[in-house]
Amino acid sequence: MKYCQNCGAQIEDDRIYCPNCGAQTNMPVNPYAVNTPKPEPVSIGGFIGRSLIPLIPFVGGIVYIIMLFIWGGDTTKEESFRNWAKAQLIMMAIGIVLSIILVIALIVFAAGFFDAFKDAASADIIY
Ligand SMILES: [Zn+2]
Repeated sequence: MKYCQNCGAQIEDDRIYCPNCGAQTNMPVNPYAVNTPKPEPVSIGGFIGRSLIPLIPFVGGIVYIIMLFIWGGDTTKEESFRNWAKAQLIMMAIGIVLSIILVIALIVFAAGFFDAFKDAASADIIY
C-alpha cells in the first residue's frame, strides 16, 4: 500500500493514478507503511529466566555478561529492556572499579601496618 503525494489517500501498489484525485502515483512507497517488526516486551517468565543465568555454575557469570551485551543491542525487544541490560553492564563496571580501588586501599593499608610492625620489632631488638 502506498499514499498519494497530492491528496494523501491510500492507493494500491499497482495503481498508476490516484483513485481519489487522479494524480500520478509513480512515487516511492511510504516508508511509514513498510512492515518493520514492532519491538516486543519481555515477559515475566523471560525476566525470571534471564535472572537465573548468573546462577549457572562456573560459566553463569561470563555467559550473563555476554548476554547483557547481546540484549543491549537487541532491537527486537522494547527499548526499556535494552536500557535495563545496558544499566546492568554499567553497574557491573562501577562495581569492578570500586573493587579494584578497595583492593588497592587494603594493600596500601596492610603494607603500612607491616612497616609499623617491622619498626616495632627492630626497636625491640635494639633495646
Ligand atoms: Zn490523490
